[in-house]
Amino acid sequence: MIMDEICRKCNALCCRYYSFPIDMPETYEDFDQIRWYLTHEATSVYIDWDGQWFIRIDNRCRWLTDTPEGPRCSRYDERPTICRQFSPATCEYAQGHHECEEVFSTADDLDSYARRMLGAIAFDAARQASRKEDSGNED
Ligand code: SF4
Ligand code: SF4
Repeated sequence: MIMDEICRKCNALCCRYYSFPIDMPETYEDFDQIRWYLTHEATSVYIDWDGQWFIRIDNRCRWLTDTPEGPRCSRYDERPTICRQFSPATCEYAQGHHECEEVFSTADDLDSYARRMLGAIAFDAARQASRKEDSGNED
């Protein structure tokens, strides 16, 4: 059961994805690793207001159940600690938004950002070198 009135209105947003912190990318290789995450469906990456990087996977919780009264947690008493700590007083729905510095929904979004951060010349050189290395492996 999801307790608060506001939770009923938001359709259990916080039970429909999970996210966790990842290291801030510093090199072309770091960015390329995150680019791989973003080639997957239902995956995004964001930088929170305090500069922490996160990966987010939009995938509903198996314990979320649809009832005539709306979505409910079917194992509410057993729900993980993170669910217990998630408060409708401070969650993204209650606040009306999720504070993010940047959101990357696609690999191309991230490429544009990486190019800005690393510099276009360094970025292009690193990409070219990585592809050359790759074609060398095929020999
Ligand atoms: S805690 Fe917030 S996001 Fe989660 S169900 Fe309640 S209102 Fe929605
Ligand atoms: S365990 Fe329950 S409260 Fe936690 S995400 Fe799943 S459905 Fe939501």
